[in-house]
Amino acid sequence: MPLPLGHAAIGLATQDVCFRDHSVTTRWTYVLFIAILANLPDMDVLMGLLFQGNGNAYHRGPTHSVVFAFLMGFLASNAWRLWTHIPKLNFLACFMIILSHLAADFFLTSSAVSFFWPLEVHWATGYKGWGDVFNLVFLGGFRDVGIIITCGVIMILKRAVIQIRHHALGERRSGQV
Ligand SMILES: [Zn+2]
Repeated sequence: MPLPLGHAAIGLATQDVCFRDHSVTTRWTYVLFIAILANLPDMDVLMGLLFQGNGNAYHRGPTHSVVFAFLMGFLASNAWRLWTHIPKLNFLACFMIILSHLAADFFLTSSAVSFFWPLEVHWATGYKGWGDVFNLVFLGGFRDVGIIITCGVIMILKRAVIQIRHHALGERRSGQV
């Protein structure tokens, strides 16, 4: 089950693989921004804890939908206009990073995701108090090691493929001269 670190790694890999600008993942403000976006749908856990004392009360509902990813993607891609310290990522990148959270929850967990809310909604069941969530986020992070390593390997492979392509292109050009 992806936890905040796992979702952050998946978000970073999504940005890295889908978009050309590699320098993004070497700047800490961008890394932090991507990590926040990749975890944004789980703000419903915090809302559940604050309003009901149960992190599962609103979990996997509207914030785990394409509509949410679309709206938040739009807001996030324009947030730099309010404060220049906020990194500038285009709408598609923000949308895809938030969407990566839904995909990870859908493929890596057994509980349903409300992809097409308001047409469908699947709330999480059971109870998760402050202690459960705290333990999961701060002490359970090691469970995501496999996800983090996989994302790292994907990012390294992408760079290797680009290097090989550049090399092949350079050789072809020098052969033509
Ligand atoms: Zn989630």
